[in-house]
Amino acid sequence: MIADAPLTKRLFRLPASLSVMGVPVTPFESYDHALECITQAIESGRKSSCVAINPLKIHRAWREPSLLDILREMEYSICDGIGVSIAARILCGQGLNRITGCDLFFRLLSLAAEKQWGVYLLGASAQSNAAACARLPEMYPGLRIVGGQDGYFTDPGDAVRRINASRADLLFVAMGSPKQEYWIAQHRHAIDARFCMGVGGSIDIAAGHLRRAPAVFRMTGTEFLFRFALEPRKRLAHQGILLRFLLRVIGTRLCNAGPSRVRAREANTES
Ligand code: UDP
Repeated sequence: MIADAPLTKRLFRLPASLSVMGVPVTPFESYDHALECITQAIESGRKSSCVAINPLKIHRAWREPSLLDILREMEYSICDGIGVSIAARILCGQGLNRITGCDLFFRLLSLAAEKQWGVYLLGASAQSNAAACARLPEMYPGLRIVGGQDGYFTDPGDAVRRINASRADLLFVAMGSPKQEYWIAQHRHAIDARFCMGVGGSIDIAAGHLRRAPAVFRMTGTEFLFRFALEPRKRLAHQGILLRFLLRVIGTRLCNAGPSRVRAREANTES
């Protein structure tokens, strides 16, 4: 994946990444723009992977250089959290349109139904996984779910063999963060699927076992308030991290000179 990333970026002329506290984020203009870039990569036969960037992941990457390396190697890094968009505005003088992992997951499924791409769902509990595999083709007529497995397996080699045997084009991994990102990075070279993406709780949502934030929260970027109301204990710690993240962003902006556009993609400068 390390060797492939710059080439994919050059080939598909991805917009230059913004560096949000050292983590690259792709400034997609819209969902359609993201889907267009991903489709080009898939149809070219090249492998690519996508990660959803939020303040929790960036915060964790500060303490885990191995995670930071993984985030830097992904071909697509979408602006999943409103905190990342705010940070980009503070640090780079440029906001980022939000492309949430959950919305992109459902839009990719719709596209997969149209293009007849095979989809494999790896992760969540066995019940959630089976329910999602059954429900999604009802939601997206024509969708080919070519396989599914829960995320509590013990033999990763066997999981990779099943994925490859299914001849999946798209692999969605829902094992929570950063476990799913580590898993994708570790096994990407052995997985034949052309596109991989970590999708967190999205399989639970597809299964109908987890409620999505109502539209008003999604449109205002305040899903975290909704999740906080649902799971106050788990989410309280997250709110503390979000606050520390934003304070550090402001501190960085005050200490450093002007906006930064770091690790600009070779794509635009070289071509
Ligand atoms: N999960 C999994 N294997 C694991 C840990 C978690 O399949 O070893 C699943 C879990 O069942 C859930 C999903 O990962 O469906 C997302 O978990 P969580 O909500 O903790 O992740 P987040 O989206 O908050 O990162």
